[in-house]
Amino acid sequence: MGWVSDDNEHEGWAAAVAPDGRLSGSSTSEGMLVEGITGHYKPDRMMPDYEVVPDSEIIGWRGACQCGWRGELWERVTSPEAADFSRRREYLAYDEFAHASNEVENAIHDEWKTHLAPLEAVAGVKAAAREYNQAGHRLDKTVAAAKAAGASWADIGRAVGISRQSAHERWADRQ
Ligand SMILES: [Zn+2]
Repeated sequence: MGWVSDDNEHEGWAAAVAPDGRLSGSSTSEGMLVEGITGHYKPDRMMPDYEVVPDSEIIGWRGACQCGWRGELWERVTSPEAADFSRRREYLAYDEFAHASNEVENAIHDEWKTHLAPLEAVAGVKAAAREYNQAGHRLDKTVAAAKAAGASWADIGRAVGISRQSAHERWADRQ
């Protein structure tokens, strides 16, 4: 299948879209496999929970991710004249396998990476916050140790880069 994020939390792929909106992640020689039984298509022989949508009926492609993200539709058009990449229209003849073309797949891959960007940025915030909290705990412990060893609030404040008064206000209650 598709693409996996660095943290393994996201797996995306270029899904073929059935007329009823269901997405496919895999195919057989007879068509694209979609999960669920509606009775409109024949069930797959190997996987009884899946139906086989003929390649000729696939209406287009869109990005999909395990997290639930869905990209915009890339519409399948069946005449070369109607194709327009900038308007998300891709030509594919009725009698061909309904996989996304390399161009569409690359475009969908880029869309999927774009959906990861804010999540990766937030992961950076999370990592920094963890370090920040750990450093805070270490600071509290070393201040307590310095005080126990006889350091004054002025000494500690100077070491931290704050006033004697500020050091006192911050740590005196914790002693
Ligand atoms: Zn995702």
